[in-house]
Amino acid sequence: MRLADLLDRLHALGAGPAHVQRVLRHWVQAAEHDRGAHAPEHFYPKPLLEALPGLRDELAGLARLNASHPGEDGSARLLVGLHDGQMVESVLLPVGPKGGGVCVSTQVGCAVGCRFCMTGQGGLVRQLGSAEIVAQVVLARRQRAGLQNGVRRVVFMGMGEPAHNLDEVMDAIEVLGTAGNIGHKELVFSTVGDARVFERLPAGRVKPALALSLHTTKPELRADLLPRAPALTPAELVTLGEAYAQATGYPIQYQWTLLEGVNDGDDELEGIATLLTGKRAMMNLIPFNSVEGSGYQRPSWERAAEMARWLNRRGVLTRLRRSAGQDVDAGCGQLRARAERPARG
Ligand code: SF4
Repeated sequence: MRLADLLDRLHALGAGPAHVQRVLRHWVQAAEHDRGAHAPEHFYPKPLLEALPGLRDELAGLARLNASHPGEDGSARLLVGLHDGQMVESVLLPVGPKGGGVCVSTQVGCAVGCRFCMTGQGGLVRQLGSAEIVAQVVLARRQRAGLQNGVRRVVFMGMGEPAHNLDEVMDAIEVLGTAGNIGHKELVFSTVGDARVFERLPAGRVKPALALSLHTTKPELRADLLPRAPALTPAELVTLGEAYAQATGYPIQYQWTLLEGVNDGDDELEGIATLLTGKRAMMNLIPFNSVEGSGYQRPSWERAAEMARWLNRRGVLTRLRRSAGQDVDAGCGQLRARAERPARG
């Protein structure tokens, strides 16, 4: 379901703007419904009031929990069933001092075909509707019910390339940043880079933070690792990212999956320093999460830490991160692949 369809249905049931906002807020904030005699929904138009229980069941059916795999770091990989039997993954991110978050999927499968990603190997199955994207946040909030700020951040870094489903992702971002009460900077649009993203994001009512998957400073290597990403060079990506950072005031998060012997050399460090010194940038080094049969390995933790130290010394703000849920051996797309091929588990 698309949010646009949901709004059309609400309007057809007689809902005015305030009713629509109230229905959306209740849903997206996973709020308990008022049941008292003076609950505002008693004043809804009759057709809306009558249709509401069925509509709520329908919304709850957009994203159902099939399985949860908790990690030692407080994260949990959620295998999420959709209304047509397809599955995607969401990840509950650990709760820190500022609260927790969720990483959501934007497509079933993905067409970019990154060589180190399990999701990319299966290609694109279908797009997610904007309501299915929001429903993953609602599901996450229900998992963390009773925990203040259990989900105050949403990152669009799960299965799929958000730029390939741009209209639906932008609609989801707008609802999460308004009815969902999530800070705009706490919504993180993650992409391999696409010219349309740099046109649409600055024009949106809700402007999310931006994460760019860089992975290498070498154009030929990037074209090989991300075979169907748009043909932007790393330098062009950084130029476009910097313009967005200047426009919004948010630093760009650069993502770098560390692959041993591929992009963990001193030449890449020099390349990163050349590209990012003086920019509003945060570099996230993420050691590769092993994928069976991928042929890639992660470098040692010592090497990864040395790279982070070197970059910080050169003035590039860098964090070394474990991908959430690494200890349950579940990289992007692995839970879904396992669920579909249990015999190989
Ligand atoms: Fe798609 Fe992201 Fe996987 Fe690349 S890493 S194939 S963009 S899901």
